[in-house]
Amino acid sequence: MQHSSIHWFRKGLRLHDNPALLAAATDCCRLHPLFILDPSSNRAGANARRFLLDALLDLDGSLREMGSRLFVVRGCPQEVFPCLFRAWGTTRLTFEVDTEPPARQRDTAVAELAAQHGVEVIQKVSHTLYDTERVLALNGGKAPLTYKHLQSLLTSLGPPEKPAPALTQEHLQGCHTPCQTSHDTDYGVPTLEELGQNPAEMGPHLYPGGETAALARLDAHMERTAWVRGFKKPETEPTSLSPSTTVLSPYIKFGCLSVRTFWWRLDEVYQGREHSQPPVSLHGQLLWREFFYTAGASIPNFDRMVGNPICLQVDWDDNPQYLRAWREGQTGYPFIDAIMTQLRSEGWIHHLARHAVACFLTRGDLWVSWEEGLKVFEELLLDADWSLNAGNWLWLGSSAFFHRYFHVYSPVAFGKKTDRDGAYIRKYLPILKDFPAEYIYEPWKAPRAVQERAGCLVGTHYPRPIVEHRAASERNLGRMKAARAQKGTKREPPAGPSVAESRRKKSKAEQH
Ligand code: FAD
Repeated sequence: MQHSSIHWFRKGLRLHDNPALLAAATDCCRLHPLFILDPSSNRAGANARRFLLDALLDLDGSLREMGSRLFVVRGCPQEVFPCLFRAWGTTRLTFEVDTEPPARQRDTAVAELAAQHGVEVIQKVSHTLYDTERVLALNGGKAPLTYKHLQSLLTSLGPPEKPAPALTQEHLQGCHTPCQTSHDTDYGVPTLEELGQNPAEMGPHLYPGGETAALARLDAHMERTAWVRGFKKPETEPTSLSPSTTVLSPYIKFGCLSVRTFWWRLDEVYQGREHSQPPVSLHGQLLWREFFYTAGASIPNFDRMVGNPICLQVDWDDNPQYLRAWREGQTGYPFIDAIMTQLRSEGWIHHLARHAVACFLTRGDLWVSWEEGLKVFEELLLDADWSLNAGNWLWLGSSAFFHRYFHVYSPVAFGKKTDRDGAYIRKYLPILKDFPAEYIYEPWKAPRAVQERAGCLVGTHYPRPIVEHRAASERNLGRMKAARAQKGTKREPPAGPSVAESRRKKSKAEQH
């Protein structure tokens, strides 16, 4: 039978390693590549929207080169599909498996609608290295709660599948995409302005979205073979002025880059040569991703505290003022404020920078729930990813996975480790750029004359610290101990190192 297929792009915005797209093109006489812009479904901010539109334009361009086009339709999928099935005479619908619970609900509803319209549904795994369902089945339906446990399950499954071949014109032989001359008006990729964003108000366009940019970025990194082989995540720097890790995360999140393609390209670079190992290697980073995806797929209410069986129940404060100061980079701690400024303007920050600001917001200093931080990241990160964001916030809030809650990042000392002179702070907080290195992390300690010479009076041009770190972290440590004692899962350190001691001896295990 010759099918009339819709391939529904959601994540997976690419032609390479897209088995569901290949399935759509098989025995197909009519193909509609579709993307649904559902305004109700996500909290993405301006930078992430720009990235998405870039990715859609890139996809449309690549499809056009093969004589096809992308159809962008606005609305809620459950309402859009019945109309499209009828209008396009659809017999088959294909899409990539999405493991996130809200997405699964949506997909189940769409699959039911398809069945009612006599449309066959094909779903393929390609957003994760492994089929999450298989991994869970291997573990009795439960998510492994440690990285080592996940690794041992994956070892029994063997290496991840190789990527599927990229879609080419040959796959589309005999397959036609019906397009009108009004296609751009009816189904074109909208502009940022049409989505209510003013491009002039946006941050620098450092990471253009799309498969073409993703593959170019991957190629550029894979050429740095010694760097790839020597990559150890804890040795990369949160304060470097240009990224010290790959910044492939936005591309992986939107599926402009296949994680399996990334895995196997790394494998080629590793072949026959000594290289770093998980958890700190680049393969190791992709396994962290797999770890949080597996957890997110099966643990109820994974992105929340209440109703989440692995999450410590904590009496976080409801403090909108602290939350706002943190979000806006107005805490009075330059290292924290510089990171949040980078996040707001560029949409990406280093992993350890995420550690620093997440710890500061939650158990370190402000005692605001990790769920609030998660929502801010969801809006501001280009790579905001439901499973990874929730899993990492659970970790940093010492609410699951990571229990060494007595390890607290100092908002002063941590940045100094890799950037004594504060070049990173000077870049993102130009108001502080003329402070001497001695005071750049603690400008409130500078004598008035120094502040005047720097052209910045603390309390007038830049805020005073919102809390006193030492006192706040000691107090919070007590609250965290109480929360753990209440749960009855107290796992105290044998000799109970102080916060200050922990700052000095921060273990690498913390830097997952
Ligand atoms: P690289 O070091 O180059 O790693 C390569 C890839 O491995 C990344 O692109 C990513 O896909 C994966 N990876 C790396 N570190 C992790 C990790 N800790 N957990 C899971 N996968 C990882 N990452 C997101 O992609 N989306 C998020 O929403 C997100 N939220 C986070 C929230 C907090 C509080 C923290 C501490 C971390 C969060 N991370 C998130 C994980 C991590 O910080 C980013 O994946 C990483 O910094 C992205 O930069 P990169 O591509 O240069 O990473």
